[in-house]
Amino acid sequence: METFDHIIVGGGIVGASVAYHLACKGAGSVLLLERNELASAASSRAAGLMLQASAKISKTPLANQTRKTIPLLEEELGESVGFHNVGSLRIAASEDRAADLDAMARDASKWGIPVEWPSVNTVSHMVPWLDTSTIRKVAFMPTDGYADPYILSMSYIAAARARGVVVRPRTEVRDVLTEGQKVTGVTSDAGQIACGTVIDACGVWAALFSERVGYPLPMAPVRSHYWITEPDEVYGGEHPVTILSDAAAYTRPEVGGLVLGVQEPRSATFNARDLPNDPAAFSPTKGEEHWDILATASKAVAQFFPAIKSSQFSSYICGLSSYTPDGEIILGPVPGVSGFYAAAGACGSGITLSAGMGDVIADLVLGRKPAFDIAPFRPDRFGQVDPFGEPFRDQCAAARASKIRKVATRPEHRSGSAGVVRAK
Ligand SMILES: Cc1cc2nc3c(=O)[nH]c(=O)nc-3n(C[C@H](O)[C@H](O)[C@H](O)COP(=O)(O)OP(=O)(O)OC[C@H]3O[C@@H](n4cnc5c(N)ncnc54)[C@H](O)[C@@H]3O)c2cc1C
Repeated sequence: METFDHIIVGGGIVGASVAYHLACKGAGSVLLLERNELASAASSRAAGLMLQASAKISKTPLANQTRKTIPLLEEELGESVGFHNVGSLRIAASEDRAADLDAMARDASKWGIPVEWPSVNTVSHMVPWLDTSTIRKVAFMPTDGYADPYILSMSYIAAARARGVVVRPRTEVRDVLTEGQKVTGVTSDAGQIACGTVIDACGVWAALFSERVGYPLPMAPVRSHYWITEPDEVYGGEHPVTILSDAAAYTRPEVGGLVLGVQEPRSATFNARDLPNDPAAFSPTKGEEHWDILATASKAVAQFFPAIKSSQFSSYICGLSSYTPDGEIILGPVPGVSGFYAAAGACGSGITLSAGMGDVIADLVLGRKPAFDIAPFRPDRFGQVDPFGEPFRDQCAAARASKIRKVATRPEHRSGSAGVVRAK
């Protein structure tokens, strides 16, 4: 039987990063198995925002680790990994959001992440379409930006392969083999493969996969989406990412146009058991018209982006991300089975956290103490739950709604519509 020290299941950005980090740390033989094409699920649909400071301070060091890894990867590969270092503007119009900014800035400084406080006038020049009249406070984080998530995923893969990792797409893992509560291998559609460690990096399918060792991970698939405008000089080219947290929205430049993402008050969730193996065969809608969702969000967004009323939206990108009820990721050994690890539940931040997650898992697998506090990410922190049931999924949707804010946006900011224009 073929034998590897470690088998990673799932070839999205998280699995790719785990592979790279295991190889960097000299972990022995590593095999990555992906049942479809590499990075063909969530990791090719992400907006690619890479924000180091967030409402969840536990994630900041992991995001910072990704940011530090990007230049190392570029040096190793001798080419760009698709990161655009445009910085991020965190914009607050309300007192609550301004308080959030202060907390995030304190946290960022703790990790050496630079934070600037530009004047409103400077901000107007940085982002020409932004209406600054209601802005109370703005922080600029110059080392943030956005990445092409597919290029970054494939960069981890290329660097891992160069360091000896074996990568096999179009190979499904069907089961985990154990002996006396210890992992001994996997059954794939290409036969059995022996190993001492299995890492579950199966994205929104991770709970289904971990169920095979009797422990469905506490996470649920939640819809994420964004719209893209046609190019127009009104957007001002490569400007910073903007986080409009009062409107639960974000933007980033996209080849002369703008990406606009909004977080719904209650996103649609799905039972992982209903998902097909191929994400291209699944549309995460529940019968809603996405233009209506955009129109509903547009009143709050128009406070900062008045041009939304005349913007020509030409594309809509929609996909599933795994969320947990507390908005924290799932990272670490799965109870009850020695040698089985989870790198999942990325809560819509898997691109941002990719290197941090890979670094932690590689250390754990090697029996080393991770560089960061991983207590908030323990797979067993909710006790026994049914991750496929609606009550649990509702909690996960609520975690998505409050992702970029500590307090929910007041309802009056969400009612009505400023109107949106679809590109012909
Ligand atoms: C619309 C949208 C916007 C987003 N925007 C951002 C953003 O701006 N910034 C950010 O950081 N994150 C963002 N995200 C989240 C980010 O895309 C995810 O957190 C990240 O891609 C998760 O990576 P992953 O490797 O865990 O999962 P995936 O990329 O989904 O990969 C999991 C892989 O596991 C494979 N698999 C499953 N089961 C098996 C099996 N049994 N055998 C073999 N293979 C298996 C699947 O085929 C899949 O390819 C966004 C997500 C969406 C949908």
